[in-house]
Amino acid sequence: IYEVVVTPMWEDPQGVSVVVMIHNMTAVRRLEQMRKDFVANVSHELKTPITSIRGFSETLLDGAMSDQATSREFLQIIHDESIRLQRLVADLLDLSQLESKQMSIHPEWTQMKPLIDSVVKTMEEQAKNRKQKLSVQVDSFSAKVDVDGFRQILINLLSNAVAYTPDGGTITVTAKPINDGWELCVADSGIGIPKKDLDRIFERFYRVNKDRSRESGGTGLGLAIVKHLVELHRGDIYVDSKVSEGSKFRIVFPMEESSDR
Ligand code: ADP
Repeated sequence: IYEVVVTPMWEDPQGVSVVVMIHNMTAVRRLEQMRKDFVANVSHELKTPITSIRGFSETLLDGAMSDQATSREFLQIIHDESIRLQRLVADLLDLSQLESKQMSIHPEWTQMKPLIDSVVKTMEEQAKNRKQKLSVQVDSFSAKVDVDGFRQILINLLSNAVAYTPDGGTITVTAKPINDGWELCVADSGIGIPKKDLDRIFERFYRVNKDRSRESGGTGLGLAIVKHLVELHRGDIYVDSKVSEGSKFRIVFPMEESSDR
């Protein structure tokens, strides 16, 4: 799509001189479309829990409250849906700050083993509930990371590993210095990701299976946030996955942000 703007500049006996500007609008239109899709997606994601909270609370107010078991069941749904809303709003805020480049990171030299152990600890309960084996193999080394940003990267990857791995599966976290930096891997023995979706899972709201993501409490924004945070650390993220066998997310952080200190 091209936009042509013709502006007459001056006139002399030879004719009229004009300035012709040709703008390539394809990128502009694409951005506009992406923005529209994003707003539509956000509205839809917000609407689903709000409709449910409203419906169940109205049914309670209309008389269902007299039955204790029903009240409990409905209140549980209202509670779960509020948590979903809260998570969605928190993720949206993070993502909008990351995308508008308002979020800056403050990398500092950090012992990676205690940091990774402390994040993994917060996920142990969830993995235990699913009878999953969660193991950590981390070398003793320091790296320059933004502690909060790194925590979020690892929490998002681990939450996905837990969510998309069947009961009894295994999840492994490894981190070690490599040639020109250091790497973090989160591998699972889960449902895997079809090849055709691999390129798209880092897009906001892209999910391989919407229902499954919702069931597990996903917002569809986790990996988009991870990708931004990894970029802020000048790292690269790779994913290797096989349907029904599992997935491995690997992040390589560069040398200048890390060392064996
Ligand atoms: P969600 O909140 O839906 O998990 P994410 O942005 O974290 O959103 O992930 C996007 C999609 O990528 C998920 O909906 C899921 O289909 C897929 N995905 C992410 N991590 C994994 C994994 N470890 N195993 C299988 N599929 C995954």
